[in-house]
Amino acid sequence: MVNVYYDTDVDLSVLQDKKIAVIGYGSQGHAHVLNLRDSGMNVRVGLRPSSLSCGEAEAAGLKVATVSKAADWANVVMILVPDQTQKKVYEEEIAAKLKPGDTLAFAHGFNIHYDQITPPESVDVMMVAPKGPGHLVRRSFENGSGVPCLIAVHQDFSGQTKEVALAWAKGIGSTRAGALETNFKDETETDLFGEQAVLCGGSAELIKAGFETLVEAGYPAELAYFECLHELKLIVDLYYEGGLSRMNYSVSDTAEYGGMTRGTKIITDETREEMKRILKNVQNGTFAEEWIKENRDGQPLMERLRTETENHPIEKIGLKLRQMMDWLPSNDKLETPA
Ligand code: NAD
Ligand code: MG
Repeated sequence: MVNVYYDTDVDLSVLQDKKIAVIGYGSQGHAHVLNLRDSGMNVRVGLRPSSLSCGEAEAAGLKVATVSKAADWANVVMILVPDQTQKKVYEEEIAAKLKPGDTLAFAHGFNIHYDQITPPESVDVMMVAPKGPGHLVRRSFENGSGVPCLIAVHQDFSGQTKEVALAWAKGIGSTRAGALETNFKDETETDLFGEQAVLCGGSAELIKAGFETLVEAGYPAELAYFECLHELKLIVDLYYEGGLSRMNYSVSDTAEYGGMTRGTKIITDETREEMKRILKNVQNGTFAEEWIKENRDGQPLMERLRTETENHPIEKIGLKLRQMMDWLPSNDKLETPA
């Protein structure tokens, strides 16, 4: 079991007399900085001058500076640029500005855990990672609640790092729901495993395999799309609201029985063995090394796999069927980070 902290356990004042820079104004960045500002903290946003987000942040009443100026000004620097750009931004614009006793903060442990960023011993290194997308972190804060988060301390020079991490969690509203204490290793490894085996990798391949099975057997692609992709949302919503039992309770007895007797034939011992190998590759750094190299090379494999996905028949039929669903957000209305 992990330690959980709530509002009443946490003292905001350790953050009150600090100068806070949030680097990046995307999904997480805008939520952290606006919530902290509304909690009475002294904040600034660090962005590239060319960034489209600059105008947006200024329009929200925030002070915006270049990354290096914001990092120079601040004693707490939270890096909320994409994980694969953090090393470059850190080395070129942040590292030289860190003073002894400053705090470097993250919302995901990848770069620290896999030694891409090695801060000097004289700074505190912490993580505050909300378990939800930025727009939910902002919206629930405004509604008086919050999104649960993970907090972790990697390096504790001041002896106060955990208090600062908890104060940050309170400032963004997360201790209203609960802040769970973890470490950089567990957060990073479980996050990567989850997205590879279950959330992104596992679910996408399950959808494709189901769709292909029906289409190859001669059924219309429209029906295959509805059964194998579209309806997954209803099922996931039930998991999200009440776990596996809520799903079983809500579907028909036929679906429940068929699912419970057949699911174990899909996820076999072989699949579980593969999951263990995927986890091993996360733990021993093989995946991180591969991903870092892929980025260094300009993402060639990523590019090819993206194109392959875009050309899959399920994407063609989906595009057509989603025209019939006027409740869906149109693509140009989807959140796109600048
Ligand atoms: P994002 O892509 O939404 O936003 C990135 C921001 O960084 C944008 O404002 C972009 O303009 C800016 N940026 C990009 N390159 C830059 C550069 N060179 N210099 C300055 N600014 C630059 O990213 P995100 O999803 O908010 O992710 C940020 C961090 O939060 C990551 O570590 C991620 O793992 C973590 N995280 C994300 C989520 C989520 O749901 N999105 C949840 C928890 C943690
Ligand atoms: Mg994640």
